[in-house]
Amino acid sequence: MSFHINHHFGVLAFAAVINILVANMAWQRRGSTLACRYFSLMMVAATFYTAVAAMEAGSTAVSDKIFWSTLEYVGTGGVIVFFLLFSEAFVYEQSQFNPRHLLRLSIWPLLNIILVATNSWHHWIWVDITPGLPPNYVAIYEHGVGYFWILACLYLYGLRSIQLLAQSTFRGSPLRRRQSLFLLLGALFPYLGSALYSLNLAPAGLNLAPMSFMGTGILSFWALFRMGAFDAIPVAREMLIEHLQDGVMVVDLQHHIVDINPQGRSLTGLKSSCMGRSLHSVLADLPDLLRNYDRGIEIPFDLWLGTKKSYYVTVQISPLQDGQGRNHGRLLVFHDITQRYQAEVELRQANNRLQSQLQEIEFLQTKLETQARQDQLTGLFNRHYLNEILPQALEQAGIEHYPIAFVMLDIDHFKRVNDTFGHRTGDLVIQTFSRILFQQISAGDVPCRLGGEEFLVILPGMTLDAGFQWAEIIRQSFEAAAVSWRNSEVKTTVSGGVAIFPDHGTQDDELLHAVDLALYDAKKGGRNQVICFNHLVHQ
Ligand code: GH3
Ligand code: MG
Ligand code: MG
Repeated sequence: MSFHINHHFGVLAFAAVINILVANMAWQRRGSTLACRYFSLMMVAATFYTAVAAMEAGSTAVSDKIFWSTLEYVGTGGVIVFFLLFSEAFVYEQSQFNPRHLLRLSIWPLLNIILVATNSWHHWIWVDITPGLPPNYVAIYEHGVGYFWILACLYLYGLRSIQLLAQSTFRGSPLRRRQSLFLLLGALFPYLGSALYSLNLAPAGLNLAPMSFMGTGILSFWALFRMGAFDAIPVAREMLIEHLQDGVMVVDLQHHIVDINPQGRSLTGLKSSCMGRSLHSVLADLPDLLRNYDRGIEIPFDLWLGTKKSYYVTVQISPLQDGQGRNHGRLLVFHDITQRYQAEVELRQANNRLQSQLQEIEFLQTKLETQARQDQLTGLFNRHYLNEILPQALEQAGIEHYPIAFVMLDIDHFKRVNDTFGHRTGDLVIQTFSRILFQQISAGDVPCRLGGEEFLVILPGMTLDAGFQWAEIIRQSFEAAAVSWRNSEVKTTVSGGVAIFPDHGTQDDELLHAVDLALYDAKKGGRNQVICFNHLVHQ
């Protein structure tokens, strides 16, 4: 075997060394990730491919070149099978090795290798080979239909990988999408290389495909390991942020949004296209948030986010500092408190309802109490109330030594009014009399309707004379008053009796009896008059 070390050999050998280094580094970092193992195996296949391509480039004899070229197809077959397996495992996050799937995918590449290996029988791959000339000994291969068939197979496998990675650039977390994008770019290198080779545009007739796998390997390695695809902690962090119930937004020192998780997007109504844009422009309709952001406020604050749906959130803005205390931007955390807020609102509403119900109950209670002690027709106190307060009023007057005048009043010949003008007119007469009473009483006086057309007024602090005068005013006022009935006037009079505490009695029944007797005297004496109780007469 004659061998000549030339530039092509050097370049391809260098690529092979790089590829095996990448394969090794990937294998060491493989962890338990299936995609990483496939990636490593892909790089082993790429190493094999570049190594045999280097041997082909260094060989001078055509038979040797054919041998190494045949092995190149073993390399490309391995690369595309493992690249497709890697893409599937990466995109679908597979963890189970599936040997049957590997076998299925390997069928066509294996058949193609057989096709290449048997070229001397059918010449479908290489129709003719022109030996290379010094110094590089680049042989010119005239390709047959089989070569293009194999090329189509390689392209189809590659296209499937590209399709998977392209889909993945639109799905998943921002990190995963970025990684998919770089893997996709890496996957395009061999296409470029083989396209240039097939179009005879490669420098010095060099097959760029083996070298392009080096580009694929380096770019993919960077995307996978430098961007942290297989590092457990970044993945866990990414998962945590992506699935966090809170919205998280990262803003750099230039106030550009550099990351936002799905919850952050749904709360703020922003799309992933907001990445890289200024916070002030995308959140211009949240002036409160921007004001606090500009002031560097780190205390959590509540905010309405009126996007498609309304949210009530607590926002916390914190500086992003590394271990050395260097500032890298800020972290905005949006905690959704809509449910809590709604519950609070409902509670407040229920509370308000309860309050107004309580007020209503209190009002009704007061009304009931008033009704219980008030006479319906006149609004005066009733007998029940009188019985309730009288003992207390007497006790207090006894302690404080002041008199109480008792004035009992009874409308004269009231039955006649009823009989002549009707019961309704009788009621009007009672109401007219009550109004006169109301006009004459002062604070502390207790005017009661005892029943029918009979009234008792308790006048604390009033002497017998004053009580008499007071009753006289009532009598005269009532005498002057009239109720109109069918164009005529209904007029009547009132008789009154007056007694005094403590002179005429110290107990309620004693006093009521005394004042009743005085009234009786007034009636007996001709009505329309006021008589003071005279104990000498009633002894
Ligand atoms: P006297 O001068 O002796 O007091 O005679 P009088 O007719 O006023 O007294 P009497 O006790 O004979 O009649 C009172 C009447 O008052 C009898 C009753 O039907 C009537 N009366 C009682 N309560 C009411 C009421 O609420 N409305 C009306 N219209 N009449 C009533
Ligand atoms: Mg009467
Ligand atoms: Mg009466």
